[in-house]
Amino acid sequence: MSSIQLGSDGALRHLLTLEGLARERLTALLDTADAFRESHERGVKAMPILRGRTLVGLFFEPSTRTRVSFEIAARKLSADVVHFDIAQSSTRKGESVHDTLATLAALGCDLFVVRHQTAGTAAHLAERLPEGCALINAGDGEHAHPTQGLLDALTIRQRKGGFAGLKVAIVGDIRHSRVARSDVHALLALGVEEIRLCGPPQLLPEVAPAGCRVEPSADRAVAGADVVIALRLQKERMEAGLVPSEDEYFRDFGIDARRLALAAPDAILMHPGPINRGVEIASEVADGPQSVILEQVRNGVFVRMAVMAHLAGAR
Ligand code: ASP
Repeated sequence: MSSIQLGSDGALRHLLTLEGLARERLTALLDTADAFRESHERGVKAMPILRGRTLVGLFFEPSTRTRVSFEIAARKLSADVVHFDIAQSSTRKGESVHDTLATLAALGCDLFVVRHQTAGTAAHLAERLPEGCALINAGDGEHAHPTQGLLDALTIRQRKGGFAGLKVAIVGDIRHSRVARSDVHALLALGVEEIRLCGPPQLLPEVAPAGCRVEPSADRAVAGADVVIALRLQKERMEAGLVPSEDEYFRDFGIDARRLALAAPDAILMHPGPINRGVEIASEVADGPQSVILEQVRNGVFVRMAVMAHLAGAR
């Protein structure tokens, strides 16, 4: 686990990875997210938890769900939100990411949400941030996407009532997926019974993470599963030609109605988005009754509120 994400008192200072976070802390974050969801449902529109704090998002890779939900979450907690467009910024004049962050911190930003194509960037940047600033990793290369791991866990807990005894199938481009890695860290710590990782051999990790079983057949991976998580082909992280034909990929690893019917009758279907219909998931199931894809999106707001509240020392 990244040693800098916890302070010497054990408090969360940054959120860089879920690896190594204890079940109690993950559960506390999910409980806070549920509490925020309940207050939202009761009509509470804003809370003063982050009053006086200023959030800025630095997205070096495209983002829809994560970027927008962080902004909504920050506003609901009364933070100021600064719009920062990398493409129009001085990074185009050659300013380093470190210098950009230092500049934004000097301007008074103190909550940084960073997505970068290189694994480890979030931790490097967090190490150099001035005292009082917190950084949340919104995805660093293939490494980690901790808030996605949390919102997936929250969605599973809401639908399944807990984690004990659950069989989870993660199907697709596991090797390049930071979501798969963060899901595995969260779900194992929270106590699921079994995680099956399935994809073509060239898209599986070289070494299966401890506690996971690699299953080359998608039918067998999905059979009897309580939770099926489909993943996008991360073409931006692949050498060309790694997946020769999308039709073949869909036939062998896509989740359609026939394959989903092999799962437990009350199985839920998840996907972190963006979805590619007809590549890793069929419209009939993406829009079907077992799909919780938009619930995942909604939970993203409450999970991100919870993470920021914990970073601010509030429960
Ligand atoms: N949105 C997720 C991520 O940024 C999943 C994906 O892009 O496929 O990792």
